[in-house]
Amino acid sequence: MTAKSLADVEYNYKLINERIAQAAQKVGKKREDITFLAATKTVDPDTINYAVSLGLDHIGENRVQELLSKYDRYNLDECSLQFIGHLQTNKVRQIVDKVDLIQSVDSLKLAKEIAKQSIKLNKTTDILVEVNIGREENKSGVYPENLEELLCEISKIEGISVKGLMTIPPICDNKHKISKYFHNMHNIFIDISDKKLDNISMTILSMGMSADYYEAILEGANMVRVGSSLFGERIYI
Ligand SMILES: *Cc1c(COP(=O)(O)O)cnc(C)c1O
Repeated sequence: MTAKSLADVEYNYKLINERIAQAAQKVGKKREDITFLAATKTVDPDTINYAVSLGLDHIGENRVQELLSKYDRYNLDECSLQFIGHLQTNKVRQIVDKVDLIQSVDSLKLAKEIAKQSIKLNKTTDILVEVNIGREENKSGVYPENLEELLCEISKIEGISVKGLMTIPPICDNKHKISKYFHNMHNIFIDISDKKLDNISMTILSMGMSADYYEAILEGANMVRVGSSLFGERIYI
């Protein structure tokens, strides 16, 4: 990433927290009801740790290789490390012992592999199921109509525990449109909650990124994943 000064990160961190608090208040929630997860791809561990020193307590990586290369340098004493990107089955083993939550489970095959590797470690891994709310081909996530069946299958597996849902809606520059996707996603979240499926907890609804986390909270998100608004524009090398 760009050599943004730490002062910028501090300024952005405070600003994002304020906007989260404002959005929360608009829907009758408190600041503490919303989890601010920083998406840390391309960000160096020193900068991440600086944000953690300001109070940031959830970070998410989206590439296995990058997570592994940075892992020893994160300060995770008071910070949860999560996986938020597309996860290949053959890489599960490399991260299962390192992450607190995997947000991007969209198939039974992947769920089974996470469970298998977790059992080996004597742990239960918390996951979110990713929903492809915009029904985009070539995008990760289960289609809404297949969600309940997938949840029922996953609920029978030892070693894995569903905590909620995650989505990345289609890119659109229209706030109205994006709010509609968030709205639909929240309806699905509520529907599934109301069904009270065995062994499935609908606690977390993870949606909203730099451009639209405010709108996501207004529509019911209780976890937002913010990268560039905190750390500056990403530079991929
Ligand atoms: C990068 C990323 C984000 C954050 O994106 P920004 O637009 O930089 O805030 C959120 N979620 C996922 C899954 C990501 O990969």
